[in-house]
Amino acid sequence: MKNIKIPNFTFKEWDKTFQKIPGWDTEAVRAAKVMVVGSGALGNEVLKNLALLNVGNILVIDFDTIEYSNLSRSILFRESDCGNQSLKVDVASKRIKEINKNVKVKTINGDVTADVGLGIFRRVDVVVGCLDNRLARLFLNRACHKVDKIWVDGAIENLAGQVNVYKPDTSCYECQLSEVERANIRYRLGCPDIAQRNATQGRIPTTPISSSIVAALQTQEALKVVMGNERQSMAGEKFYFEGMNNIFLQYNTPDLKEDCLSHYRYDSILEAPNLTAQMTVKETLDFLSQHFKTDHPIIELDYELVLEITGKQSEKTSAVVVPFPHLSDQLMQKYEGVTGENMVITKDLARIDKTFPHLDMTLQSIGIPPLHIMSVLIDSQRHFVELTGDEPYFSFT
Ligand SMILES: [Zn+2]
Repeated sequence: MKNIKIPNFTFKEWDKTFQKIPGWDTEAVRAAKVMVVGSGALGNEVLKNLALLNVGNILVIDFDTIEYSNLSRSILFRESDCGNQSLKVDVASKRIKEINKNVKVKTINGDVTADVGLGIFRRVDVVVGCLDNRLARLFLNRACHKVDKIWVDGAIENLAGQVNVYKPDTSCYECQLSEVERANIRYRLGCPDIAQRNATQGRIPTTPISSSIVAALQTQEALKVVMGNERQSMAGEKFYFEGMNNIFLQYNTPDLKEDCLSHYRYDSILEAPNLTAQMTVKETLDFLSQHFKTDHPIIELDYELVLEITGKQSEKTSAVVVPFPHLSDQLMQKYEGVTGENMVITKDLARIDKTFPHLDMTLQSIGIPPLHIMSVLIDSQRHFVELTGDEPYFSFT
């Protein structure tokens, strides 16, 4: 029998063909750090593409487990991954490495709106949004603007899909929302009823065709950012595709609005290597007092920290310490006086100072994720302080 020599596909070997493409920057692709938010239908396709394209470092974020209903649109998931609470991020990571062992992966099993520090956004080259709801998109848009990152949004529905590239100062998701969409988001954010606020949209019907077309374009746009070809990018334009009637449209997105809340940029970020999300609130406030030479530092939270919830029917009041994004149905059931009753938030806060009643809790346990950039008020002046001590958390393996 003839011996078959199995080639060792190193980074250099893997993308030999791509290197023949004019302008292909193999080293930039190898060094790239790409954040993929969501590993559903679109996320699967984007991750598969990034692995095939030899992208060096991929960060995958999702909070979900794999269900049978995912299989028809998810190239990375198998039947054996269903029914055993397998995390989408774990399985996606494993399959990415099966496709291309050169690729390094980091996973965050969590909600992008609560569990991903802004310092992580700051450290990636580009963000790819594979989401299915407006609230998460709005969050991503604001986070990316704060640290001046381009994000590539994909959306699919039925046989249609669209791709948007949002680049701070050029194009913005929030500026494109209609008045009705804005009003819906405002209503949900301002409503004390937890069930209504947490309401998610139903599952959107789609096919692997829509997701592969949209994800392919998203990946291409992300690679342009990685290789520094931003001039050729789709930023400021929207691509729309409808498969039933073969409609392919590309049009300019509307001008930026002056009063848009998304355009807020965190200039001059203070890197604090002494701070981590595992420190207590007290230790953090002490550090801030010392650093800024003040007795009254205030940490501004990006969310509400819920301190009391009340059953609408039973009027039973319970003391809690839970960041709003983590108020899940299961958690609320623990506090219901009447099974299935609606719970409302009756006490919360969004600013932490030395009067905070839980000073011994860690930053992470009150909802501040590792490597976050905190907004800190010192004598009415706002400062941006990064938990830089968490840097080892941001590593790819
Ligand atoms: Zn805007």
